[in-house]
Amino acid sequence: MDTEMIVGCHLSLSEGYAAMGRRIGELGGNTFQFFTKNPRGRSPNRPPEPEDVKDLAERMRRGGVILPVAHAPYTYNPCALKPEVREYTRDSMRAELTFLENLPGALYNFHPGCHVGQGAEEGCRIVAGMLEQVLWEGMGTPVLLETMAGKGTELGRSFEELGRIISMTDPGLRKYLGVTLDTCHIHDAGYDLTDFDGVLREFDGIIGLDRLRAVHLNDSANERGSRKDRHAKLGEGTIGADTLIRIAHHPLLRGVPKILETPNDEEGYAREIRMIRERETNEAEL
Ligand code: FE
Ligand code: FE
Ligand code: ZN
Repeated sequence: MDTEMIVGCHLSLSEGYAAMGRRIGELGGNTFQFFTKNPRGRSPNRPPEPEDVKDLAERMRRGGVILPVAHAPYTYNPCALKPEVREYTRDSMRAELTFLENLPGALYNFHPGCHVGQGAEEGCRIVAGMLEQVLWEGMGTPVLLETMAGKGTELGRSFEELGRIISMTDPGLRKYLGVTLDTCHIHDAGYDLTDFDGVLREFDGIIGLDRLRAVHLNDSANERGSRKDRHAKLGEGTIGADTLIRIAHHPLLRGVPKILETPNDEEGYAREIRMIRERETNEAEL
């Protein structure tokens, strides 16, 4: 088996950190994603138990969990109009990144936000300005901007917009920035995943492939270019299982975690993880 395949799914933090580390193994995965707090709420985190966090850190150190992704809640908007939302976003991200120093090897993923009429260029500038306030020299956690479908005034609908944010960020801090490629989002934004080599070439030319640090592997319920953002199970959407499994096994993405965010319960996730892994076994037997 290709030991380099890093695949997993979104899990709930409700039982704690150690429980997610154990659960993903039971589901056949070796990475996972979790929301740092209730994705739609603003209630503060229950303070994590140090022993609970240490248990996951130890599992990561031994290689049982690789590159897990902490996903910021949807309520954050770095370029909101209201100053209190911007400040809340900045302070929360800073606190979460400080906490993640306890989990060496984790990644942090966030949505660049909605520019709400300020314009994409101004939005990118504001996001870059916020990043300069939450990143610090010597930090351990890569911070990933997620590619978005382009709903409403969402930033990040194109590689150009994400590249713009990165290039507007202080050159000394840029090394901490990366990108999560969400297959449903870029399909809904208009990219043609049947030509995935072409998509990666474009990504490389605009952002640089070394910044591609995570993949959200989702099928889409909508047509390409719809700008809708509704995820579907692998093989039940407009992208299709073949294309998605080919992406999961793309040689240029070896070492990049593939996270399922499909509308599934845990059994469904286990099935999709098997679907992805089976392909690698079949290919190894050829
Ligand atoms: Fe996301
Ligand atoms: Fe996503
Ligand atoms: Zn989505």
